[in-house]
Order: sequence, then C-alpha cells, then structure tokens
Amino acid sequence: MKWKRIVVKVGTSTVCHKNGAPDLRRLEKLCRTLTDLKNMGLEIILVTSGAIGVGTNKMHLSQRPESIAKRQAAAAIGQCELMRVYDRFFMDYGCLSGQILLTKGITEDTKGRENVIATLGALLEMEAIPIVNENDSVATEEIVYGDNDTLSAVVAQFANADVLILLSDIDGLYDKDPSIDPSAKLISVVKNPEDVIHMASDSNTKLGTGGMVTKISAAKIARTQGIPTVLANGKDPGILYDIILEDEIPGTLFEV
Ligand code: GLU
Repeated sequence: MKWKRIVVKVGTSTVCHKNGAPDLRRLEKLCRTLTDLKNMGLEIILVTSGAIGVGTNKMHLSQRPESIAKRQAAAAIGQCELMRVYDRFFMDYGCLSGQILLTKGITEDTKGRENVIATLGALLEMEAIPIVNENDSVATEEIVYGDNDTLSAVVAQFANADVLILLSDIDGLYDKDPSIDPSAKLISVVKNPEDVIHMASDSNTKLGTGGMVTKISAAKIARTQGIPTVLANGKDPGILYDIILEDEIPGTLFEV
C-alpha cells in the first residue's frame, strides 16, 4: 500500500444536500468505505465540514446566518446532528470514532498542539477514526481557520500523515473554470502548488466556505511537511478505493 496514514477531508457540498440536510446515502457510503479501508490496516483521520450547513437546515433557515452569534448557534446545533449521523453509521460497521473540535488558538499553542497530536495518536492506536472539525461555535472571528481545507492540512501535519485527500464537488483542478468553459482540461499532476495558484478562483456556496484557492493553499501547507495532496470528487465516496489502492489517481495529485 502506497500510503498508511491518511487524512480525508469532506466539504459541506459532499456531506449535505443543497438545503443543508445531511446526505445520508453519501455519508453511509463514506463511513462504510472508511471503515473498510481501516480494516485493511490503514489509519484514517476524517476532517468534516457540514456543521453550519446541517444547523442552518435544522433552524429552518434558507442560508447560513449573517450574524456571528446565530452562525455559531447553527454550528452548535449542526455539529451534534452531524456527529450523531457519523457515530451511527460508523457503529453500524463496528468502527469506533471520536470527535475532535479544534480552534486556531489550540493548534497554535505549543501545549495545545502537543495535546492534539497525542489525542490523535491515542485514537488511531485504538483503531478509532478521529472526526475533526473546527469548533465553530466558540472560535473567535479574529483567529479562525474559517475553512476546513486549511484545517485539514494542519491536521495532516500534526498527524504526520502520508497523504491528504480533499473530497469536493469538483473532479480536480482544471486549467480553466469548467463551469464557464467546456474546453477546460483536468490537470492530473501538479508539481508545485505555486505554479497553479493563478488558475484558481474562489467560491463560497450558500452553506460552506472554501474554493480552489483554499485547496491549493492546503496542498502548499501539506507540501512543506512532505505530504502529497489529492483533490477528487466526493460524490461517490467509493473513489477513495481508486485513489488509495490503484496507481492512477482520478483527480489531481499535488506531488511533493
Ligand atoms: N467548519 C465549517 C462547518 O462545519 C465548514 C468550513 C468549510 O466550509 O470549510 O460547517
């Protein structure tokens, strides 16, 4: 197996329907696939978005709240629901999982960082899947990651991961915006993220944050630690088998 310790990041558009409700069919397959890969001897860490999306839906709002307090409330409500769904699906397949909520303050503090690294290590040793998100309900606006692409790269560094896999609603990095230009071509290998940053345009969906800019920047952070990044489409979480077990990567590989 080319990689043993793997960080998988899933975005809001992968785990939620457009209205923010959890996409149960996809989440079920994600949990089954991750458990199966873990059962093959791999160590998996999941970084998941979706708290604010799920909370927004539960609060019967059509888009994420503008006010910080309400957005933090949405995260508080949504995170519970998200974890309930994950825990239930992972338990169905006999897999332990545990929630780790991080803030930038914790990850930038030496002692805090040591604690996070130790907890991740202990969970993996117990063959559990750590499920990480930013602690959006308490994060202070001045010191916030704000997007889980960056957070997942930091987690990959902490965990000394072999690869970071970003599952998104796009097949990979294109040389042009494929939603505007049908002649856009998928770039299958990127040697250095610096070479492609100019191709990225950012986007914020109604529920999530992060676009291509944050993905390339995550690849850049991971690369400083010698960790390759794969960007692929998460609409079928079974794609993880192809990425991890096959030679040809269906998406974009950011080499180191
Ligand atoms: N932490 C946010 C959430 O759970 C997602 C941030 C992002 O979209 O990257 O909703």
